[in-house]
Order: sequence, then structure tokens, then C-alpha cells
Amino acid sequence: MKNSELLTTKRRDLEPTEKQQQFVLRSLVQKNACPNCGHMLNFFEGAGIEIDDWEDKPGPTACRCDSCQRALDYVVPAVGAGGSGGWHWRLVPITPPR
Ligand SMILES: [Zn+2]
Repeated sequence: MKNSELLTTKRRDLEPTEKQQQFVLRSLVQKNACPNCGHMLNFFEGAGIEIDDWEDKPGPTACRCDSCQRALDYVVPAVGAGGSGGWHWRLVPITPPR
């Protein structure tokens, strides 16, 4: 099943692992504001990947605001105080030029 199909499938038709993945997908499609310019974008827009090309794998994904081009981190706070979908964007600190 494609991710885009999984997103719209009724929960009762899903296996337990698919329910978990649907929950993750539903969080990732929520748009949150870029802390730099306020542009609203979801995880797939930030990562520059199609939803069907995404797979849940460990490790950070390089993301970027598609409006101001600032590098962004996808952050899921340990305490449930995030933005839409339980996560938010954080600016990747800019390393000053030497
Ligand atoms: Zn931005």
C-alpha cells in the first residue's frame, strides 16, 4: 500500500503496524510554521520528498524551508507541547564563517 493510500484508509481496515504508520503519516502532513519566516509547511515539503517516497527510518532527515531556504530540524518534543500534529520546526543553528 502506498503512503498516500494508507493515509486515507479507514483504521478498522488496517493491521496494527499500518495503524502506527498511519498515525505517523497524519502527524507529518500537518503544517507547522517556519520559526524564521512563519511560512507554513509540512514535513514532506520541508524534506523535499513525495509522500509515497517516504519510509519511516531512524536518523534525522535534512529539511529546509521552501520559502526562506533556512535549514530546519523536525522536532517532536518529549513533552506534548508541540505544534500541529505534535511536532514543530526548529532552526538549524547557522555555523558562523571562520
Ligand atoms: Zn522560512
